[in-house]
Amino acid sequence: DGVIWLDGEMVPWREAKVHVLTHTLHYGMGVFEGVRAYQTPRGTAIFRLPEHTRRLFDSAHILNMPMPCDKDTLNQAIVQVVRENGLDTAYIRPMCFYGSEGMGLRADNLKVHVMVAAWTWGTYLGNQALEQGIRVRTSSYTRHHVNITMCKAKANGNYMNSMLALQEALACGYDEALLLDAEGYVAEGSGENIFIIRDGVLYTPDLTSALNGITRATILTLAKSLDLTVIEKRITRDEVYIADEAFFTGTAAEVTPIRELDRRAIGSGTRGPITEQLQTLYFDAVQGRHPD
Ligand code: PLP
Repeated sequence: DGVIWLDGEMVPWREAKVHVLTHTLHYGMGVFEGVRAYQTPRGTAIFRLPEHTRRLFDSAHILNMPMPCDKDTLNQAIVQVVRENGLDTAYIRPMCFYGSEGMGLRADNLKVHVMVAAWTWGTYLGNQALEQGIRVRTSSYTRHHVNITMCKAKANGNYMNSMLALQEALACGYDEALLLDAEGYVAEGSGENIFIIRDGVLYTPDLTSALNGITRATILTLAKSLDLTVIEKRITRDEVYIADEAFFTGTAAEVTPIRELDRRAIGSGTRGPITEQLQTLYFDAVQGRHPD
Protein backbone atom coordinates (compact mmCIF):
# COMPACT_ATOMS: atom_id res chain seq x y z
CA ASP A 1 0.00 0.00 0.00
CA GLY A 2 2.84 2.35 -0.70
CA VAL A 3 3.37 5.01 -3.31
CA ILE A 4 4.86 4.99 -6.77
CA TRP A 5 6.35 8.02 -8.51
CA LEU A 6 4.74 8.45 -11.92
CA ASP A 7 5.46 11.38 -14.22
CA GLY A 8 6.33 13.74 -11.41
CA GLU A 9 3.71 12.75 -8.86
CA MET A 10 3.41 10.30 -6.01
CA VAL A 11 0.54 7.98 -6.83
CA PRO A 12 -0.95 5.35 -4.47
CA TRP A 13 0.48 1.92 -5.37
CA ARG A 14 -2.88 0.52 -6.57
CA GLU A 15 -3.58 3.51 -8.77
CA ALA A 16 -0.28 3.47 -10.64
CA LYS A 17 -1.77 1.79 -13.71
CA VAL A 18 -1.37 1.98 -17.49
CA HIS A 19 -3.80 1.43 -20.36
CA VAL A 20 -3.81 -1.93 -22.21
CA LEU A 21 -2.79 -0.04 -25.36
CA THR A 22 0.44 1.13 -23.73
CA HIS A 23 2.92 1.07 -26.60
CA THR A 24 5.79 -0.52 -24.64
CA LEU A 25 3.49 -3.37 -23.63
CA HIS A 26 3.02 -4.22 -27.33
CA TYR A 27 6.44 -3.61 -28.83
CA GLY A 28 8.74 -3.86 -25.84
CA MET A 29 10.68 -0.66 -26.34
CA GLY A 30 11.41 0.83 -22.96
CA VAL A 31 14.33 1.23 -20.57
CA PHE A 32 14.73 0.45 -16.92
CA GLU A 33 17.15 0.16 -14.02
CA GLY A 34 17.46 -2.05 -11.00
CA VAL A 35 18.85 -0.25 -7.96
CA ARG A 36 19.22 -1.31 -4.33
CA ALA A 37 19.07 0.64 -1.12
CA TYR A 38 20.79 -0.78 1.97
CA GLN A 39 20.79 -0.02 5.65
CA THR A 40 24.02 1.71 6.62
CA PRO A 41 25.29 3.19 9.88
CA ARG A 42 24.10 6.57 8.55
CA GLY A 43 20.60 5.38 7.63
CA THR A 44 19.25 3.99 4.39
CA ALA A 45 21.54 4.66 1.44
CA ILE A 46 21.02 4.02 -2.25
CA PHE A 47 24.04 2.27 -3.67
CA ARG A 48 25.59 3.96 -6.71
CA LEU A 49 22.54 6.10 -7.50
CA PRO A 50 24.27 8.53 -9.92
CA GLU A 51 25.70 5.60 -11.90
CA HIS A 52 22.27 3.96 -12.24
CA THR A 53 20.61 7.22 -13.26
CA ARG A 54 23.32 7.91 -15.79
CA ARG A 55 22.94 4.43 -17.30
CA LEU A 56 19.17 4.88 -17.52
CA PHE A 57 19.63 8.12 -19.44
CA ASP A 58 22.27 6.48 -21.65
CA SER A 59 19.89 3.59 -22.36
CA ALA A 60 17.12 6.04 -23.29
CA HIS A 61 19.52 7.94 -25.53
CA ILE A 62 20.56 4.73 -27.31
CA LEU A 63 16.89 3.99 -28.02
CA ASN A 64 16.30 7.62 -29.02
CA MET A 65 13.67 7.96 -26.31
CA PRO A 66 13.44 11.59 -25.23
CA MET A 67 13.53 11.80 -21.44
CA PRO A 68 10.87 14.13 -20.07
CA CYS A 69 12.81 14.89 -16.88
CA ASP A 70 16.41 15.54 -15.91
CA LYS A 71 18.75 13.39 -13.85
CA ASP A 72 18.36 15.44 -10.66
CA THR A 73 14.59 15.05 -10.79
CA LEU A 74 14.93 11.31 -11.16
CA ASN A 75 17.50 11.05 -8.37
CA GLN A 76 15.19 12.96 -6.07
CA ALA A 77 12.23 10.83 -7.11
CA ILE A 78 14.16 7.66 -6.25
CA VAL A 79 15.19 8.97 -2.82
CA GLN A 80 11.64 10.14 -2.16
CA VAL A 81 10.04 6.82 -3.15
CA VAL A 82 12.28 4.92 -0.73
CA ARG A 83 11.58 7.43 2.03
CA GLU A 84 7.83 7.75 1.54
CA ASN A 85 7.43 3.99 1.52
CA GLY A 86 9.34 3.79 4.80
CA LEU A 87 11.82 1.24 3.44
CA ASP A 88 15.13 0.44 5.23
CA THR A 89 16.30 -1.79 2.41
CA ALA A 90 14.78 -1.76 -1.03
CA TYR A 91 14.94 -2.87 -4.60
CA ILE A 92 14.13 0.12 -6.77
CA ARG A 93 12.82 -0.05 -10.30
CA PRO A 94 12.83 3.12 -12.39
CA MET A 95 11.36 2.61 -15.86
CA CYS A 96 10.66 4.74 -18.94
CA PHE A 97 7.99 3.61 -21.36
CA TYR A 98 5.94 4.86 -24.27
CA GLY A 99 2.30 5.70 -23.57
CA SER A 100 -0.92 4.69 -25.29
CA GLU A 101 -1.22 7.68 -27.62
CA GLY A 102 -0.85 5.57 -30.74
CA MET A 103 -0.05 2.15 -32.18
CA GLY A 104 2.29 1.21 -35.00
CA LEU A 105 6.04 1.18 -34.92
CA ARG A 106 6.79 4.86 -35.21
CA ALA A 107 7.31 6.34 -31.79
CA ASP A 108 7.86 10.02 -32.46
CA ASN A 109 4.24 10.83 -31.63
CA LEU A 110 4.28 9.10 -28.26
CA LYS A 111 4.69 10.43 -24.76
CA VAL A 112 7.55 9.02 -22.69
CA HIS A 113 6.39 8.18 -19.17
CA VAL A 114 8.73 7.70 -16.24
CA MET A 115 7.96 5.77 -13.10
CA VAL A 116 9.83 4.69 -9.96
CA ALA A 117 8.64 1.87 -7.72
CA ALA A 118 10.41 0.36 -4.71
CA TRP A 119 9.78 -2.61 -2.50
CA THR A 120 11.60 -4.93 -0.12
CA TRP A 121 13.29 -7.70 -2.05
CA GLY A 122 15.65 -10.06 -0.28
CA THR A 123 18.39 -12.14 -1.81
CA TYR A 124 17.65 -12.69 -5.51
CA LEU A 125 18.88 -16.28 -5.72
CA GLY A 126 18.50 -17.18 -2.03
CA ASN A 127 20.85 -17.03 0.97
CA GLN A 128 22.09 -20.54 0.31
CA ALA A 129 23.18 -19.37 -3.15
CA LEU A 130 25.33 -16.65 -1.59
CA GLU A 131 27.04 -19.14 0.72
CA GLN A 132 27.29 -22.27 -1.35
CA GLY A 133 27.02 -21.09 -4.92
CA ILE A 134 24.68 -21.94 -7.74
CA ARG A 135 24.52 -24.43 -10.58
CA VAL A 136 24.60 -22.84 -14.01
CA ARG A 137 23.85 -24.09 -17.50
CA THR A 138 25.20 -22.66 -20.73
CA SER A 139 22.19 -21.44 -22.65
CA SER A 140 21.15 -22.28 -26.18
CA TYR A 141 20.10 -18.64 -26.43
CA THR A 142 22.91 -16.27 -27.28
CA ARG A 143 23.31 -12.79 -25.91
CA HIS A 144 22.18 -10.00 -28.17
CA HIS A 145 22.85 -11.61 -31.48
CA VAL A 146 20.36 -9.15 -32.92
CA ASN A 147 22.12 -5.96 -32.00
CA ILE A 148 25.36 -5.85 -30.07
CA THR A 149 24.95 -2.13 -29.32
CA MET A 150 21.86 -2.88 -27.30
CA CYS A 151 23.79 -4.59 -24.55
CA LYS A 152 24.90 -1.12 -23.50
CA ALA A 153 21.25 -0.43 -22.73
CA LYS A 154 19.08 -1.92 -20.04
CA ALA A 155 16.16 -2.08 -22.42
CA ASN A 156 12.96 -4.04 -21.96
CA GLY A 157 13.26 -5.72 -25.36
CA ASN A 158 16.73 -7.03 -24.45
CA TYR A 159 15.30 -9.28 -21.78
CA MET A 160 13.43 -11.63 -24.08
CA ASN A 161 16.46 -13.87 -24.51
CA SER A 162 17.45 -13.45 -20.84
CA MET A 163 14.03 -14.73 -19.81
CA LEU A 164 14.10 -17.59 -22.31
CA ALA A 165 17.58 -18.54 -21.16
CA LEU A 166 16.59 -18.53 -17.50
CA GLN A 167 13.43 -20.52 -18.23
CA GLU A 168 15.50 -23.11 -20.07
CA ALA A 169 18.04 -23.35 -17.24
CA LEU A 170 15.33 -23.70 -14.59
CA ALA A 171 13.48 -26.33 -16.64
CA CYS A 172 16.71 -28.36 -16.79
CA GLY A 173 17.10 -28.16 -13.00
CA TYR A 174 19.75 -25.42 -12.85
CA ASP A 175 19.65 -22.13 -10.96
CA GLU A 176 20.82 -19.73 -13.66
CA ALA A 177 21.82 -19.49 -17.30
CA LEU A 178 25.11 -18.46 -18.84
CA LEU A 179 24.69 -16.78 -22.20
CA LEU A 180 27.37 -16.86 -24.86
CA ASP A 181 27.81 -14.15 -27.44
CA ALA A 182 27.19 -14.67 -31.15
CA GLU A 183 30.77 -15.93 -31.57
CA GLY A 184 30.56 -18.44 -28.75
CA TYR A 185 32.49 -16.52 -26.10
CA VAL A 186 31.11 -16.16 -22.58
CA ALA A 187 28.96 -13.03 -22.28
CA GLU A 188 26.97 -12.93 -19.03
CA GLY A 189 24.17 -14.46 -16.98
CA SER A 190 20.51 -13.67 -17.60
CA GLY A 191 20.88 -10.62 -15.36
CA GLU A 192 24.45 -10.80 -14.07
CA ASN A 193 28.03 -10.26 -15.17
CA ILE A 194 30.47 -13.14 -14.69
CA PHE A 195 33.94 -13.32 -13.17
CA ILE A 196 36.36 -16.25 -12.96
CA ILE A 197 39.54 -16.73 -10.93
CA ARG A 198 42.46 -18.91 -11.93
CA ASP A 199 45.84 -18.97 -10.20
CA GLY A 200 44.89 -15.90 -8.23
CA VAL A 201 44.08 -13.79 -11.31
CA LEU A 202 40.58 -12.35 -11.76
CA TYR A 203 39.13 -12.43 -15.28
CA THR A 204 35.89 -10.99 -16.63
CA PRO A 205 34.62 -10.69 -20.19
CA ASP A 206 35.20 -7.29 -21.75
CA LEU A 207 32.10 -5.25 -22.53
CA THR A 208 31.70 -6.30 -26.16
CA SER A 209 28.62 -8.36 -25.40
CA ALA A 210 27.82 -7.81 -21.75
CA LEU A 211 26.02 -5.05 -19.91
CA ASN A 212 28.32 -2.52 -18.28
CA GLY A 213 27.33 -3.68 -14.83
CA ILE A 214 27.62 -1.31 -11.90
CA THR A 215 28.32 -4.23 -9.56
CA ARG A 216 30.98 -5.39 -12.04
CA ALA A 217 32.65 -1.98 -11.84
CA THR A 218 32.49 -2.09 -8.03
CA ILE A 219 34.12 -5.54 -7.97
CA LEU A 220 36.89 -4.32 -10.27
CA THR A 221 37.61 -1.51 -7.79
CA LEU A 222 37.46 -3.83 -4.78
CA ALA A 223 39.76 -6.34 -6.48
CA LYS A 224 42.39 -3.64 -6.73
CA SER A 225 42.19 -3.11 -2.98
CA LEU A 226 43.09 -6.80 -2.60
CA ASP A 227 46.00 -6.32 -5.03
CA LEU A 228 44.48 -8.86 -7.38
CA THR A 229 45.51 -8.82 -11.01
CA VAL A 230 42.40 -8.14 -13.07
CA ILE A 231 42.13 -8.98 -16.77
CA GLU A 232 39.18 -7.99 -18.94
CA LYS A 233 39.19 -10.22 -22.00
CA ARG A 234 37.18 -12.67 -24.04
CA ILE A 235 36.59 -15.86 -22.06
CA THR A 236 35.65 -19.29 -23.37
CA ARG A 237 33.43 -21.89 -21.72
CA ASP A 238 36.49 -24.09 -21.16
CA GLU A 239 38.12 -21.37 -19.12
CA VAL A 240 35.08 -21.30 -16.85
CA TYR A 241 35.14 -25.11 -16.49
CA ILE A 242 38.79 -25.09 -15.37
CA ALA A 243 38.58 -21.95 -13.23
CA ASP A 244 39.43 -22.22 -9.53
CA GLU A 245 36.45 -19.99 -8.68
CA ALA A 246 33.64 -18.23 -10.50
CA PHE A 247 30.88 -15.83 -9.52
CA PHE A 248 28.10 -13.69 -10.89
CA THR A 249 27.59 -10.03 -10.04
CA GLY A 250 24.51 -7.84 -10.31
CA THR A 251 22.43 -5.40 -8.34
CA ALA A 252 19.85 -8.14 -7.79
CA ALA A 253 22.20 -11.15 -7.47
CA GLU A 254 24.88 -9.14 -5.59
CA VAL A 255 27.94 -11.46 -5.55
CA THR A 256 26.76 -15.03 -6.13
CA PRO A 257 29.32 -17.84 -6.35
CA ILE A 258 28.99 -20.34 -9.21
CA ARG A 259 29.78 -23.85 -8.05
CA GLU A 260 29.04 -25.73 -11.23
CA LEU A 261 28.73 -25.07 -14.97
CA ASP A 262 27.23 -27.73 -17.23
CA ARG A 263 27.83 -30.45 -14.63
CA ARG A 264 31.52 -29.58 -14.24
CA ALA A 265 32.37 -28.57 -10.68
CA ILE A 266 34.23 -25.28 -10.57
CA GLY A 267 37.27 -25.53 -8.31
CA SER A 268 36.26 -27.15 -5.04
CA GLY A 269 32.60 -27.06 -6.07
CA THR A 270 31.69 -24.50 -3.46
CA ARG A 271 32.31 -20.81 -2.74
CA GLY A 272 35.98 -20.04 -3.27
CA PRO A 273 38.14 -18.02 -0.85
CA ILE A 274 38.72 -15.01 -3.15
CA THR A 275 35.02 -14.95 -4.03
CA GLU A 276 34.24 -14.90 -0.31
CA GLN A 277 36.68 -12.03 0.27
CA LEU A 278 35.18 -9.99 -2.57
CA GLN A 279 31.68 -10.80 -1.36
CA THR A 280 32.56 -9.51 2.12
CA LEU A 281 34.07 -6.33 0.69
CA TYR A 282 31.01 -5.86 -1.51
CA PHE A 283 28.57 -6.14 1.40
CA ASP A 284 30.79 -3.81 3.44
CA ALA A 285 30.67 -1.28 0.59
CA VAL A 286 26.90 -1.39 0.03
CA GLN A 287 26.25 -1.27 3.76
CA GLY A 288 28.55 1.70 4.18
CA ARG A 289 31.22 -0.11 6.23
CA HIS A 290 33.96 0.43 3.68
CA PRO A 291 35.47 3.63 2.30
CA ASP A 292 34.50 2.58 -1.27
N1 PLP B 1 23.79 -8.09 -17.15
C1 PLP B 1 22.47 -7.99 -17.36
C2 PLP B 1 21.88 -8.53 -18.59
C3 PLP B 1 21.67 -7.38 -16.38
O1 PLP B 1 20.36 -7.28 -16.54
C4 PLP B 1 22.27 -6.88 -15.22
C5 PLP B 1 21.44 -6.27 -14.20
O2 PLP B 1 21.08 -5.50 -13.76
C6 PLP B 1 23.63 -7.01 -15.04
C7 PLP B 1 24.37 -7.62 -16.04
C8 PLP B 1 24.31 -6.49 -13.81
O3 PLP B 1 24.32 -5.10 -13.82
P1 PLP B 1 24.34 -4.26 -12.48
O4 PLP B 1 25.49 -4.75 -11.71
O5 PLP B 1 24.50 -2.86 -12.93
O6 PLP B 1 23.05 -4.52 -11.79
